[in-house]
Amino acid sequence: MSVAAQILKKELVSKASDITVFDKSHLHYYQPGFTMLSGGLLGSNEEDIERACSKYCTSQWLKLITSSGKAFTYDYLVMACGNQLRFDLIEGATEALEDPESPVGSMYNLAYAKKINRLRENFKGGKIVATQPSMPIKCGGAPQKWVYLCEESMRKKKIRNSCDIHFYTALPQMFPVKKYSDALYRIVTEKNIVPHFEYEAKKIDSKNKKVYFKKISQQPQEDTLLEVPYDLLHLVPLQKPLPCVAKAAFSNQAGYVDVHKHTLQSVKFDNVFALGDCSSLPTSKTAAAVFAQSPVLVCNLQNTMILHKNKNAKVEVKELYDGYTSCPIFVGDNKLMLAEFLYDGKISETFSSFVDQSKPTQFFYYLKRYVFPYVYWHHVPRAQWFGRNTVVAPSFFRGRKGVHFS
Ligand SMILES: Cc1cc2nc3c(=O)[nH]c(=O)nc-3n(C[C@H](O)[C@H](O)[C@H](O)COP(=O)(O)OP(=O)(O)OC[C@H]3O[C@@H](n4cnc5c(N)ncnc54)[C@H](O)[C@@H]3O)c2cc1C
Repeated sequence: MSVAAQILKKELVSKASDITVFDKSHLHYYQPGFTMLSGGLLGSNEEDIERACSKYCTSQWLKLITSSGKAFTYDYLVMACGNQLRFDLIEGATEALEDPESPVGSMYNLAYAKKINRLRENFKGGKIVATQPSMPIKCGGAPQKWVYLCEESMRKKKIRNSCDIHFYTALPQMFPVKKYSDALYRIVTEKNIVPHFEYEAKKIDSKNKKVYFKKISQQPQEDTLLEVPYDLLHLVPLQKPLPCVAKAAFSNQAGYVDVHKHTLQSVKFDNVFALGDCSSLPTSKTAAAVFAQSPVLVCNLQNTMILHKNKNAKVEVKELYDGYTSCPIFVGDNKLMLAEFLYDGKISETFSSFVDQSKPTQFFYYLKRYVFPYVYWHHVPRAQWFGRNTVVAPSFFRGRKGVHFS
């Protein structure tokens, strides 16, 4: 929606109906809101996280299709269809999540986020286990956000002493970027949460409330699993490309749309572009990354269209995306750590002149809780938001409109 709105703003098409948006769902989800819901920071207002797409699109260019099997042709294609949650890759997970009596939930899906919120609120004490699978996942910091919010709520209920909290992550550290990882390690230690590194959940025995982990370093032929009992389990699924994307000619071996990491143009077809979770871009999969990627994509789409009209035109597809991504990590007690980095984990903090962003602050908490959701629903789909450039379009996006012959 954001890319389509930016294409209109740049006048790359002569009329809005020249753009068609296909989405399998009539509803759009503000996924970062799932964390707030599962951690008890949202009320019961579903509008905060789930809204009809039609409310945010100019009706001329939105077309919702569900598996009609009809083929459409295109001159230019932008892929932004996200990735797939694979709860089914953990044996017994779907049954446990679907069973209202089983104390297992997940903030990665709206229904399961509501369930884990209810379980967290009603919890009376015992062993709490939270998991994080191998990358790539949406928002690499999200799985531990729930752990901190849960720890805070146990303190507020004055049952913290009867809660034993464990975080099993497939990563070798708390976070992929060392600066934030070190700071988060100090936080888990202070909060008496026990981290276990390089463990991935493989199986759940919900009848006996046991989860089984495989050590990442284990040889594939070794089938010993670590058995961990739980009274409350927060599960995060592996995330994989959509099957239809994985088998497309423009995708790489891993199944993601294979695009140049700085231009967002397909490395195989120059009229195909991709951004966000479905792309091969080697950065952390976040909405913040999408906000930085979309103006780059639209500019390079424009330059490609110009070059297709006149190959001697004095424009080029530019290497403008630097991998920017951001992970706002709730750490409890109305504080948040705002991790911001580029490709290869290079730190790039917006507020570094004022604060070391590995230190959680209330200011970041209020930004994340109130400002970001507002911006997401009100400005992003209308091409009025450019990530940390805020409402000011980056210089490369300003200027030329339309696709002119040179
Ligand atoms: C629990 C959680 C917490 C998160 N926290 C944060 C955060 O704090 N900050 C942050 O920046 N990011 C966060 N994220 C990540 C962020 O939500 C995603 O990275 C972002 O939404 C990716 O945008 P996208 O457009 O690539 O994919 P999506 O937003 O997933 O959109 C994909 C779209 O494609 C549609 N689609 C799917 N399949 C098909 C198909 N076959 N045909 C047509 N359409 C299809 C879907 O219906 C959907 O509308 C979080 C994610 C989760 C799950």
